[in-house]
Amino acid sequence: MSSLELKERVFKPVPAFRGKRRGAKAAPAAGSKKTEITVPKAIKRVIKVSDVIQVGELAKRMGIKAGEVIKKLFGLGIMATINQSVDIDAATLVAQDFGYEVERVGMEIVEEMLEETADISGNKVLRPPVVTVMGHVDHGKTSLLDAIKQTDVAAGEAGGITQHIGAYHVELDKGDLVFLDTPGHEAFTAMRARGAQVTDFVVLVVAADDGVMPQTVEAINHARAANVPIIVAVNKIDKPGANPDKVRQSLSEHGLQPEDWGGDTIFVNVSAKQRTGIKELLEMIILQAEVMQLMANPDKFAKGTIIEAKLDKGRGPVATVLVQEGTLKIGDPFVAGVHYGRVRAMLDDKGAKVLEAGPSMPVEVQGLPGVPQAGERFVVVSDEKKAKEIGTYRQMKQRETELSKSSKVSLEDLYNKIKEGEVKELGIIIKADVHGSVEALTESLQKLSTDAIKLKVLHGSVGAITETDVLLAAASNAIIIGFHVRPDVKVQALADEEGVDVRLYSIIYEVTEDVKKAMEGLLAPTIKEVVLGRAEIREIFSVPKIGNIGGCFVTDGKITRGAMIRLIRDGIVIHDGKPASLRRFKDDVKEVQSGYECGIGIENYNDIKTGDVIEAYIHEKIAAKL
Ligand code: GDP
Repeated sequence: MSSLELKERVFKPVPAFRGKRRGAKAAPAAGSKKTEITVPKAIKRVIKVSDVIQVGELAKRMGIKAGEVIKKLFGLGIMATINQSVDIDAATLVAQDFGYEVERVGMEIVEEMLEETADISGNKVLRPPVVTVMGHVDHGKTSLLDAIKQTDVAAGEAGGITQHIGAYHVELDKGDLVFLDTPGHEAFTAMRARGAQVTDFVVLVVAADDGVMPQTVEAINHARAANVPIIVAVNKIDKPGANPDKVRQSLSEHGLQPEDWGGDTIFVNVSAKQRTGIKELLEMIILQAEVMQLMANPDKFAKGTIIEAKLDKGRGPVATVLVQEGTLKIGDPFVAGVHYGRVRAMLDDKGAKVLEAGPSMPVEVQGLPGVPQAGERFVVVSDEKKAKEIGTYRQMKQRETELSKSSKVSLEDLYNKIKEGEVKELGIIIKADVHGSVEALTESLQKLSTDAIKLKVLHGSVGAITETDVLLAAASNAIIIGFHVRPDVKVQALADEEGVDVRLYSIIYEVTEDVKKAMEGLLAPTIKEVVLGRAEIREIFSVPKIGNIGGCFVTDGKITRGAMIRLIRDGIVIHDGKPASLRRFKDDVKEVQSGYECGIGIENYNDIKTGDVIEAYIHEKIAAKL
């Protein structure tokens, strides 16, 4: 594909509101930054340095000119320019001369510094508001988001096809807005629980024929707790039984007084179904955003929040980043949680390639080595080395905290251990194919806690079960639950060696049932899955009328004709079924041992790729161990 064929869009780093310009407002931040020379109080004359510090930075922190510092260093026999770094000893000597003390600190300080990247300019611009839609189930959140997408003037460009990247950028004549695409307050609060505040407005959807319901109230509380202003969309006004005034009345009782009743809450009547009132609603939000003067500086390293992240079958880990400050560019080195890397490619919500993304722009980023969590900060740093340093430091920290979290057990012997008072807490590590499952499992498992035993999810994330997971489980006496994901051979071997119970499921209900039974000592006799062996697909043969046959190499164990098989791509189970054929050369065979090649066809399934792994397994009944 030539690059000309790729549709490249550049998100202008200055996505200010077009149209409306009410009176000349002085740009507040521009030019207001003067170099202030103040002498800090004695107690504050301490400079925190990790291992090294840049000359310019050292000077800045002491409030003196860099030249002074360079001169002093020269006096010490150290030739350094403003951009070079000196070690902590040199920094200490220089600082003393200026009446400062140098304090050595760990990487924590580097973390803090991440939070305050310097502005390249004081140029702040209006940025589009970011909106979350909340409300009671069936009141029309999803319908409203759909209706909003249809008002987008840019949607036409990409043929109206929108990608689900977790956020959606809407362009209107009066300005732009960004909607978080996952309605519901769980997503909103889960993100907030991780310290991320991305939403500027909550649109509270209330069905005019149903009125204020429990989740309506819950949504109000969530928005209030986050200090986010609420705009009410009274939906379904097309319905015969609609009573928008009643909604206003009930919401007033919850502290949301309509503007036209003397309050300060904006209410807009809409019908998501008939697409009426949608534009008014959006314009109200834009107007409100203008009043709030939501500003951001596009001229700095980008900083944002992970809105959604997943392991994409073809592209590996991808994450939607909502840029909140600065401009994100291709090639930027970044840290996102414990992950670090370089931005390899970016797609917008219409699926078009973008080269830059300014404040409030959601983009799907490629270039992550792993899947970060929704709500985690995404921060661009000056160079890859620094990104690596911070990422590695965080991984170490995470391991430390996870290791220190708790005390070894399997579901089968859980009941006995509880009875003997050996176990009061069951640590669980959850690995799944999507974040939603991690969250759902975490919630439903933790709910099973009783007075006798507390269930505690030590770690939950998206991706295959790794050696780190097994080690964490071993160290914390936890079990591992794999949901639609698998451990590879090496990892399974380690788990066996360490005695870690790895449970694999594909139905949430079965997970909770098993755990519940285990807690009551009823989990047995149990059906246990035994993996017979694995084969890697090295070539695909298309056979007319039959379909695709994988030219395989059995890497371990054996593959048998009678076993069940599952197809695994990047650690994720993408199909579970039966072999349709197992052949060596032209002959049908019953089994193929490790080290041999064979052809495997999968019953009713054709979408195989080279590199996929076929795992053969059987179900075995295990007697109760009581
Ligand atoms: P959610 O659970 O809040 O996301 O609600 P949905 O968007 O899934 O809508 C629930 C039901 O209400 C669906 O059957 C919609 O077709 C219907 N609905 C949504 N908005 C309207 C509307 O404005 N008018 C009417 N008559 N029905 C609507």
